[in-house]
Amino acid sequence: MIIHLNKNISKTVAKEIAQKYEAVELFTEDKTILITPHSVKKVDEKYLDHIERSWVFDNDMQLASKKYSSEIREIQIGKFSIGGKSNNTLLTIGPCGVESKEQITQTAELIKECGLHTIRAGAFKPRTSPYSYQGMGIEGLKLLAEIRDKYNFSLITEVRDSTHIDAVIDYADVIQIGAKSMYDHGILRRCGKTKKPILLKRGFGSTIQEFVQAAEFILSGGNENVILCERGIRTFETKSRFTLDLCGVAYLKEYTNLPIVLDPSHAMGYSYGVPDLARACMAMDVEGLLIEVHPEPKVAKSDASQQLNHDEFRKLFNTLKPIAKAINKTII
Ligand code: PEP
Ligand code: MN
Repeated sequence: MIIHLNKNISKTVAKEIAQKYEAVELFTEDKTILITPHSVKKVDEKYLDHIERSWVFDNDMQLASKKYSSEIREIQIGKFSIGGKSNNTLLTIGPCGVESKEQITQTAELIKECGLHTIRAGAFKPRTSPYSYQGMGIEGLKLLAEIRDKYNFSLITEVRDSTHIDAVIDYADVIQIGAKSMYDHGILRRCGKTKKPILLKRGFGSTIQEFVQAAEFILSGGNENVILCERGIRTFETKSRFTLDLCGVAYLKEYTNLPIVLDPSHAMGYSYGVPDLARACMAMDVEGLLIEVHPEPKVAKSDASQQLNHDEFRKLFNTLKPIAKAINKTII
């Protein structure tokens, strides 16, 4: 249950209600909100005078639910916003990892040439092997911030663990939580304490319910700016790296109020399939697309097989434009 308490309620009564129903307390600028487990369906009559409004749910997708707030949340990224009344589709491109100044400058030039405004790359890479490329770390983060400032872009970069989370929150404009970190409650709770937008990727072994509940950790911590990113789940199929769950996306669009970014690159795992998938993603009418590009994918230090080279991206970009137009979207 979500309970909006009356503005003039005493702190003692608010605490009493929160404790009785084991609620998470969320303090916004003008009100106190209690979020109980969904099994609570009503409160004792003696508290009714203290309650402005309440909502009942049949599962723990609560703050993220359309039942609570029917409009997709509007999230500001630099000078643009996605969701809300905007009809923008964020197209965020960049390499899997930042590798050198030369590489990331080439990426920035491509973004500028295409009239886009966001750069994405990881400096702290969460790899499945300790022996593969782990990213440039803090030096990479500084380099990304330097390029972001020079080109006046917004920067999306990922946090891998709690050792550098404050630095990533400081430098990034959008903080990406990777698929492997979706269950890291230290990261989720810390991201609830900033106001910067969070791009939360779906764990590849997670249900939609678990995915949205991970978002609820951030939302109930006090950060309203959460974007969900579907990037493929593991199925019995091995011909592609993962399986992009577009049915799950249809569900998220119907039942949640969170903007959605689709990532065909990590789902497919092979560059040959990315353009077709990206067009399908654009046609899904979501708030954004994330596509990995690299000036020279063959020598990329991570995710080499799935990154588009710049010419491949230019070609794809030209075919995304009419699809965006057909669904009344502006690519930003
Ligand atoms: C990435 O975006 O480069 C990345 C590591 O993605 P994921 O967490 O989805 O694997
Ligand atoms: Mn990657």
